[in-house]
Amino acid sequence: MIDFDYVKARDVSDAISHIARDSAARFIAGGTNLIDLMKENVARPTRLIDITGLPLTEIEETKPGGLLIGALVPNSDLAYGERIMKRYPLLSSAILAGASAQLRNMASTGGNLLQRTRCLYFYDTTTPCNKRKPGSGCGALHGFNRMNAILGWSETCIAVHPSDMCVALAALEATVHVTGPKGDRAIPFADFHRLPGHTPDIDTNLASDEIIAAIELPPEEFSRNYSYLKIRDRLSYAFALVSVAVGLKVEAGVIKQARIALGGVAHKPWRVLDGEKVLAGQQPSRKAFSEAADIILQGAAGFAHNSFKIELARRAIVRALEQAAAGTPQSQSVKVIV
Ligand SMILES: Cc1cc2nc3c(=O)[nH]c(=O)nc-3n(C[C@H](O)[C@H](O)[C@H](O)COP(=O)(O)OP(=O)(O)OC[C@H]3O[C@@H](n4cnc5c(N)ncnc54)[C@H](O)[C@@H]3O)c2cc1C
Ligand code: SF4
Repeated sequence: MIDFDYVKARDVSDAISHIARDSAARFIAGGTNLIDLMKENVARPTRLIDITGLPLTEIEETKPGGLLIGALVPNSDLAYGERIMKRYPLLSSAILAGASAQLRNMASTGGNLLQRTRCLYFYDTTTPCNKRKPGSGCGALHGFNRMNAILGWSETCIAVHPSDMCVALAALEATVHVTGPKGDRAIPFADFHRLPGHTPDIDTNLASDEIIAAIELPPEEFSRNYSYLKIRDRLSYAFALVSVAVGLKVEAGVIKQARIALGGVAHKPWRVLDGEKVLAGQQPSRKAFSEAADIILQGAAGFAHNSFKIELARRAIVRALEQAAAGTPQSQSVKVIV
């Protein structure tokens, strides 16, 4: 049994003052990941700081023409939000490709960014894991590594980030707004999650005494030409083997701008800007999309059980780009009106 305190934060500064006093405390939002980690004895917080009463539940317009999403907006509300479905369908599709309806009702926007890897050995406390226990080794490196990384890994950790939502946020170039004892700061999405390097226990660049307040979506929506393609072992309720978020701007049959982010392949959503730039000025074609995929997957290397992901990712990138260019996305959010 884990002995921990519980406190409900009154407001954002109260939440920060609690977390700043105790580095072993954790915020709890939907609890869909943290409670599992506590049950499995992977996380042992001394104190849970309940942030569900904080006023971070709105989706607001920004001056530049984007949207500001409060960190406590539930994943379901975000995916089915009128403005998200219409203006940012890539984000809506990615969220709806993840988890289950019940989980999405509980899960928060901020918590989704901070969910931890689904590497089997991270959850199994009888095995070595540098992320769970730094210096203990990596069970996945020579173990069953089917779900693990092919890009950006290090000898200390080959885990992947499991979120679908984050792959779309990477492609959309969102910004994470955080608050801490030193004030507010904005972190570009590409800099929020980290590669494992020698410190795989640190997933993000959020300081231990900071709270995620909101996620900002820029005005560029990619609402006409987009696709979120998720390849997984089961059709639903499974994490991605490989996923691809694509947003294209196509004018008069020519690609003006491309965004491509991959999930299920690295410790963070994976983008290679050269693979996007190579498409600018080209007409959509399988040849051009294959060239982009080759650039994005340069340096990819797998392990005993996951090398198949390299070819899978190459084909998924090409397919997602074809779907986006044709305006026929893999999946769309459908709002049932009764
Ligand atoms: C069975 C199952 C299947 C799933 N399948 C998928 C899937 O296919 N795709 C997918 O993307 N996700 C999937 N998920 C993960 C799910 O999306 C996450 O568990 C959820 O998004 C986490 O949000 P939460 O609010 O419940 O976080 P919590 O569990 O409350 O918190 C998670 C972490 O975030 C921290 N935290 C929360 N809010 C904040 C904040 N505002 N500021 C700072 N720290 C904060 C907490 O301290 C904790 O460390 C699945 C989960 C389960 C259990
Ligand atoms: S890949 Fe990372 S999370 Fe998985 S066992 Fe190795 S160190 Fe742990």
